[in-house]
Amino acid sequence: MIASRLLSAGKKVAVVEKELLGGECAYWACIPSKTLIRPPEVRNEATRAQGTNTPTLDLKDIFDYRDHIIRNLDDSGEVESYKEKGAKVVKGEGRLDGPGRIEVNGEALEAEHVVAATGSATSMLPIEGLEDVPVWTNREATTTHEVPERAVIIGGGPNGIETSQWLSRFGSSITLVQSPDRLLDREDPKVGDIIQEILEEEGVDVRTGRKVEKARKENDGITVVTLDDGQEVATDIVVMVAGRTPHVEGIGLESVGVEVDENGLSVDERCQVSGVPGLWAIGDVTGVMPLTHVAQYQGRVAAANILDGNRKADYRGIPRMVFSDPEVAATGLTEEEAQQEGVDVAAVTLDLPQVLARSVTYEKEPRGTLGLVADREERVLVGAWAVAPLAGEWIHQACWAVRTRTLIDTLLDGVFQFPTFSQGYLAALEQLDL
Ligand SMILES: Cc1cc2nc3c(=O)[nH]c(=O)nc-3n(C[C@H](O)[C@H](O)[C@H](O)COP(=O)(O)OP(=O)(O)OC[C@H]3O[C@@H](n4cnc5c(N)ncnc54)[C@H](O)[C@@H]3O)c2cc1C
Repeated sequence: MIASRLLSAGKKVAVVEKELLGGECAYWACIPSKTLIRPPEVRNEATRAQGTNTPTLDLKDIFDYRDHIIRNLDDSGEVESYKEKGAKVVKGEGRLDGPGRIEVNGEALEAEHVVAATGSATSMLPIEGLEDVPVWTNREATTTHEVPERAVIIGGGPNGIETSQWLSRFGSSITLVQSPDRLLDREDPKVGDIIQEILEEEGVDVRTGRKVEKARKENDGITVVTLDDGQEVATDIVVMVAGRTPHVEGIGLESVGVEVDENGLSVDERCQVSGVPGLWAIGDVTGVMPLTHVAQYQGRVAAANILDGNRKADYRGIPRMVFSDPEVAATGLTEEEAQQEGVDVAAVTLDLPQVLARSVTYEKEPRGTLGLVADREERVLVGAWAVAPLAGEWIHQACWAVRTRTLIDTLLDGVFQFPTFSQGYLAALEQLDL
């Protein structure tokens, strides 16, 4: 993305990639996961609507389409397209070798600006015996052609929830283990509670406040994991999705005097690596927020600055989503975070089917909750969350409001299309105690 921007502006650009051009998102993360989530979501939507039959899932067709969408793990088309735009594409592992110098395949590339966009990798938890049992990371999960009979999923964040739901809907018997007391523990506590109840209703065995301590393979080939309460769970596969570690090791940062830790490569507001002119970093490697749209935004900021601009990144009002069914979407601060920041908080939680015509026209057993967090003194929204159909689409109105600090009085004068989920904002705003 940043390469395209710099090429369009007439810069000479070399792109160094050790695996597939396009990165994790295109081949093993966002794109395949959302492709796999969609068919069972459609089936569930059809079942929930009035007077429709339940469609069947054709797993072969689903996996074939997923393979097509991830280009069968072949990036030659991407490589060609970058070359056509004028980039030099080098396939190999790049390593900084002093300021403005990258070593790759024994060749040295020199540049006025270097952008580190090396991403992140699955954090492997130190679990005794894990090396002796079959383990999937997001890579094996999103490219699978088989549905395991049983899976233990470690990690109750967005990836753990999404993977649990689609695997379970494809027929796998799922145990989801999360060490914090709640799923999605960085969101408002109600969010984790709601999504846990939904997963449990679908048959997922959710164990919060629990850790997997050991794993072993029995003589009959079955894997058994032991939790920290002594409970044992038999499984065919362990899926490790308990977080990501920024990829900072082995990329030569010491050659430019940069020290890093597991939190990533620290950047300033302009996305320049702190204290190293000409070295920029974007995406998961920065440890800011491991999301593709944040990586893309940082790419826009860094490109503008490389092109002699002076643009600063602003991380207010960024959407955070889980593509579960129903969707989870949030932005800004939780009520607790706002209180910790000293905000005079007014918060409201609204059961959408109570107030929205959209909910009852949408499905037979309507679902949906919306939460708003406001600054009473400044009369602006500082956060919002929703667990509801299509929430990832309509959260953006709250993102804009948080980002631009739009006055609640202005929001209250808004006119929303009837009957939509967006009308929930007006109903919730009217209930805020300001
Ligand atoms: C299962 C899953 C689902 C996700 N779904 C979503 C989603 O729906 N929406 C969302 O916003 N985010 C999602 N994410 C997060 C998203 O995938 C990442 O935030 C995004 O890929 C980060 O982009 P990036 O460019 O920083 O890194 P990456 O996409 O990881 O790309 C880094 C690239 O650098 C290459 N590289 C690394 N080191 C070197 C080196 N030394 N030399 C040469 N090349 C190197 C790697 O091979 C890789 O191609 C998901 C993540 C996972 C795991």
